[in-house]
Amino acid sequence: MKTIAVIGGGITGVTTAYALARRGFSVTLFERHRYAAMETSFANGGQLSASNAEVWTHWSTIVKGMKWMLRNDAPLLVNPRPSWHKLSWFAEFIASIPHYRRNTIETARLAIAAREHLFAWAAQEGIDFDLKRAGILHIYRDRAGFEHAGRVSALLAQGGLERRAVTPQEMRAIEPTLAGSYYGGYFTESDATGDIHKFTSGLAAAAARLGVRCLYGQDVRAVKTDGRRATITVQDGNDSASSTFDGAVICAGTASRALAAGLGDRVNIYPVKGYSITVNLTDEASRAAAPVVSLLDDETKLVTSRLGDDRFRVAGTAEFNGTNRDIRADRIRPLVDWVQQCFPGVSTRSVVPWAGLRPMMPDMLPRVGRGRAACIFYNTGHGHLGWTLSAVTADMVAGVVDQALGSAAAMVPGAALTPMRA
Ligand SMILES: Cc1cc2nc3c(=O)[nH]c(=O)nc-3n(C[C@H](O)[C@H](O)[C@H](O)COP(=O)(O)OP(=O)(O)OC[C@H]3O[C@@H](n4cnc5c(N)ncnc54)[C@H](O)[C@@H]3O)c2cc1C
Repeated sequence: MKTIAVIGGGITGVTTAYALARRGFSVTLFERHRYAAMETSFANGGQLSASNAEVWTHWSTIVKGMKWMLRNDAPLLVNPRPSWHKLSWFAEFIASIPHYRRNTIETARLAIAAREHLFAWAAQEGIDFDLKRAGILHIYRDRAGFEHAGRVSALLAQGGLERRAVTPQEMRAIEPTLAGSYYGGYFTESDATGDIHKFTSGLAAAAARLGVRCLYGQDVRAVKTDGRRATITVQDGNDSASSTFDGAVICAGTASRALAAGLGDRVNIYPVKGYSITVNLTDEASRAAAPVVSLLDDETKLVTSRLGDDRFRVAGTAEFNGTNRDIRADRIRPLVDWVQQCFPGVSTRSVVPWAGLRPMMPDMLPRVGRGRAACIFYNTGHGHLGWTLSAVTADMVAGVVDQALGSAAAMVPGAALTPMRA
């Protein structure tokens, strides 16, 4: 039986380990924390959202970013201090703008394919993750935003997604708790929400039942290869130990870039910070006043999920500030204010703030496939849609590992999903 190491126990690593185990590989998963899903896969927006497949590589993102540069409460914030990493990332981001349409369509297609795997795995393994299949409603306060959404809808439709324009009256019928006045909305019935941390933990347990060795508290210090096999060196307290595998899949979130560099691969992930608040709905009035349908406010770039009966998650903002995980009060405040404005009946007495780093590729497509060495693989760089896309990219990379351990074709360096297309 071929042995595979998976580096990282977030949503991408755990889904990859599970998909590989289902194909009969002997899998060892390395995670530096004591539990699965303790970094970016801990408290994200919760949306399984094909309707959010629009990539950000559009001139309007650059224009908005410049406008917001000097506002602390802006949805997008760039620390102006230059670094080679940041500059190279933005140069590649701009170079990807001509592929905006193609990449949006491709992302929608992947997001739709991901649903079937994820729902099937959850049902098969009996994972309770507060799944809600009540759709996602995009809301717009002005005509310009609504009209842009119409153009995005046409691209999403090319990827196979159906979403329909709704009037303010229809919006009220879909989610009666939403306060404020709106120009219109777009509703995607087929989208869903769920708790990423609960799902990842549940799937890690299911993977262990399938025979995956989940090694927690193991900090991978190096991945090396002689071209045929992969050697993983871990630090566990004061001890370091090495073990060798037939292959390794890097799923280390924002740490993937450094691991890839050590292997001669360029995976130009930038850590794009986002924040969430989890509002504990401790009283009956708040539970009644909080939305059930998931929302995406395109102007403020905030997303919401109702997790179970008694939690309401609001997440968003994008901050380019290196590997900085600080939870800033001035970035959390706009999220709480947004709840007060849109859902005035919800008490914000008990709010849990969180910050996480999106592992973002400049072209906004995840890196899924082989590295330079025949035994090294990547499933990483899922950016703002890692929860949505994880199940399909895990299945894809498991297929590539399956093929590659007996084949010689290598992933083109710098190509993202290209080698994976059917
Ligand atoms: C505010 C916010 C809201 C979001 N909302 C949504 C949403 O609504 N829908 C959606 O689809 N996506 C959303 N996302 C994006 C999504 O959460 C991420 O894309 C996804 O969680 C990334 O998963 P990952 O496995 O790549 O990374 P991570 O979850 O960070 O996992 C990487 C793991 O690798 C481990 N690791 C790293 N280096 C090593 C090492 N050397 N040795 C051992 N272990 C190592 C880390 O400890 C970590 O556990 C959101 C993100 C943010 C920040």
